[in-house]
Amino acid sequence: MEKVNLVIIGFGGMGSYHVELAKMSEHVVPVGAFDIDEKVHEKIREKGLRVYRSYQEVLADESVDAVLIATPNDVHKKLVIRALESGKHVLCEKPVTLNTTELKEILAVAEKTGRTFMVHQNRRYDQDFLIVKRMIQEKSIGDVYRIESRVQGANGIPGDWRHLKAQGGGMVLDWGVHLLDQLLFMVDSKIKHVSANLSFILGDEVDDGFVSTITFENGVTAHIEVGTTNFIKLPRWYVLGTNGTAVIRDWDLSGEVVIATENLHNSQPTPIQAGQGLTKTMAPPSEEATETRALPAPLEMETSLYNNFADVILKQATPIVKNEEVYRVLTLIEAIFKAAEENKVIENFDTI
Ligand code: NAD
Repeated sequence: MEKVNLVIIGFGGMGSYHVELAKMSEHVVPVGAFDIDEKVHEKIREKGLRVYRSYQEVLADESVDAVLIATPNDVHKKLVIRALESGKHVLCEKPVTLNTTELKEILAVAEKTGRTFMVHQNRRYDQDFLIVKRMIQEKSIGDVYRIESRVQGANGIPGDWRHLKAQGGGMVLDWGVHLLDQLLFMVDSKIKHVSANLSFILGDEVDDGFVSTITFENGVTAHIEVGTTNFIKLPRWYVLGTNGTAVIRDWDLSGEVVIATENLHNSQPTPIQAGQGLTKTMAPPSEEATETRALPAPLEMETSLYNNFADVILKQATPIVKNEEVYRVLTLIEAIFKAAEENKVIENFDTI
């Protein structure tokens, strides 16, 4: 096998986008798709792909090497296990499963069958994230001690199944998975404790947003926030280091870094009028005390996720998204749900 023939399972918003993602790889060829909704079959044909009439037909087709699962979250486990047992390799959308018990079942089958199983944590490739990762790695604002990572919209929970608990709806399992995966991919430390609040502003049975504070043993604290009722949004990233502060306002990478110069402690800020009082503490630092810089360039990832998926299958390469990392994110998600439900700080759950 020189190329990986891929069939997409679930051809909705994300499944159809995977055609473009897979085509960017030199080693993966999207050849077909299956969706239980016949209304999308025409859309599959328009993309030049074969329409499979059933999942069984996909799994019985010996020319198919791998499947990409992009269905609602509650059916990931069932579809992944059937594919692995039929000898197919699997790339699965996030959240991989609804909980760690389901993921353990998948991992046991992946091990037994020897097939590749990987999760599509594509936001490890986001340029805004790779800028923050670089700042932490290179200590360009000193030692980072606080990371605020937010995504906020005002459109509520989208679609249908995302409103339902049984289908793995809610924002912790949606955007939350991405932000938590990014966090654990860049902070090299064990989690000490977690607290969280879920929001139910829209009256759904699932959370329409959440806030979580995650404290690591190395002293980094992260504030992770997802909102769907925010008509004015806060910056995507706000990062504090011992020698400076960085802001990235949006996915357009607007933002800057402000670094303390050696004059910071020699220069006295001029007091300013603030509300009904005067303050020196909150006055802007004097001009010579800080320097404003452009954001650094994003770190470069070695290869795309699809190329890596193919390399893992064809050349036994190391996966960029490792299953133990995916499992760790799910343990953190379970801790977030527990912290919110029991209104307490959760500790001693991290798997590293
Ligand atoms: P969607 O509702 O737009 O599409 C889901 C499709 O799956 C629908 O066409 C539906 O008919 C089909 N489907 C349902 N059950 C099926 C089954 N048993 N077999 C075959 N097809 C089935 O949902 P979406 O927004 O495309 O999300 C799909 C998955 O992709 C979710 O897991 C979601 O979390 C993930 N997602 C990931 C990203 C990312 O950036 N990684 C972005 C969006 C969605």
